[in-house]
Amino acid sequence: MGEQQSALFPTYARYPITIVKGEGSRLWDDNGKEYLDFMSGLAVTSLGHAPKAIKEKLIEQLDQLWHVSNLFHIPNQEKLAALLTANSCLDRAFFCSTGAEANEAAIKIARRYNQKVLGRDRHEIITFHQSFHGRTLATLTATGQDKVKEGFLPLPQGFVYAPYNVIEGLESYIGDKTCAIMLEMIQAEGGVITADPAFVQEVVRLCQKYDLLLIVDEIQTGMGRTGKLFAYEHYGIEPDIITLAKALGSGFPIGAMLGKEKLAEAFSAGSHGSTFGGTPIATATAIATVETIVGEKLSERAAEKGEYLFAKLTEALKGNDFVKEIRGKGLIVGILCAGPVAEQIADIHRNGLLVVSAGPDVIRLLPNLLVSEDEIDRAVETISRVLAAK
Ligand code: PLP
Repeated sequence: MGEQQSALFPTYARYPITIVKGEGSRLWDDNGKEYLDFMSGLAVTSLGHAPKAIKEKLIEQLDQLWHVSNLFHIPNQEKLAALLTANSCLDRAFFCSTGAEANEAAIKIARRYNQKVLGRDRHEIITFHQSFHGRTLATLTATGQDKVKEGFLPLPQGFVYAPYNVIEGLESYIGDKTCAIMLEMIQAEGGVITADPAFVQEVVRLCQKYDLLLIVDEIQTGMGRTGKLFAYEHYGIEPDIITLAKALGSGFPIGAMLGKEKLAEAFSAGSHGSTFGGTPIATATAIATVETIVGEKLSERAAEKGEYLFAKLTEALKGNDFVKEIRGKGLIVGILCAGPVAEQIADIHRNGLLVVSAGPDVIRLLPNLLVSEDEIDRAVETISRVLAAK
């Protein structure tokens, strides 16, 4: 921006880079410098930048119809809902435009199912420390991090926070107003922390014992990134609700809240909605995205390439005292370091590789699901060179 005063609200700490073009795993800045992208727009461009198959379907739809009100039937919504429910344990879909909006829909349906369908006076949702669920008032309140709440009081009521991955005492957070437990299978923004299987089993046991809904936020982990289409599949469980966004539209804004059949009667005409939820163009890109991920078995590919990335990183960073742990699943990987990583990330960027932090001390890698072994080798070489210089 140089000396020029920005007319934008300063909501982002931006890297000093201006990206102007993207193709596959590569990005270019306004000086023509090329970058290898291991961020994917924060787990959004999982098929790479400007993927041809998706672009073709988008252009086809642009020629046909961009937008129509949700007061009309939208065949693409039916098709996308059928695709998502056929490939998950869920039965119904509601479409919106962002992750926060998908979580808002989840929170609202959990309350309304209890209050309108079951006739129970329950509204509280248990979420977890370090979680991240969005920036709207309800979702930032659901988030288990104080920093996102500062200055936004009063916050909506009805959220209770429990320690993540701690079984002991979890039951004590459940009260007579509790209606749901909401969690991420991998806390991505929280530092790439994977849920322990025993902890997840305890959450499921408590949901059954107290008749609570289980909401899984798959906004960052969904659409194949962890090596399964949805991260909950690693645990052999069946959530009542999952939320999606980010990679669902390959970069076109779309979110979804998927739920079990029993929840269908909780919503009726007028109880929830969104002008841009599931427009013909958003759903066309999402249909093409899901068909590509499922049809080309990209979840399995993510599992394989994730193992390769993990093995290469482990070998390259062996003996580096600054590196404490390499963690994650599939193609969401965190490198936990012994101190702040902002300088290292800036250095990695200068070396032509785009990565992002997760908290102050974790370097997070989110390459696209089509990443090649050669690209992984180059990324690992850059990271180990920069971290060796520490
Ligand atoms: N939930 C999780 C797990 C996320 O990672 C994010 C975004 O980073 C959100 C919710 C919020 O999504 P959005 O920014 O699309 O509202």
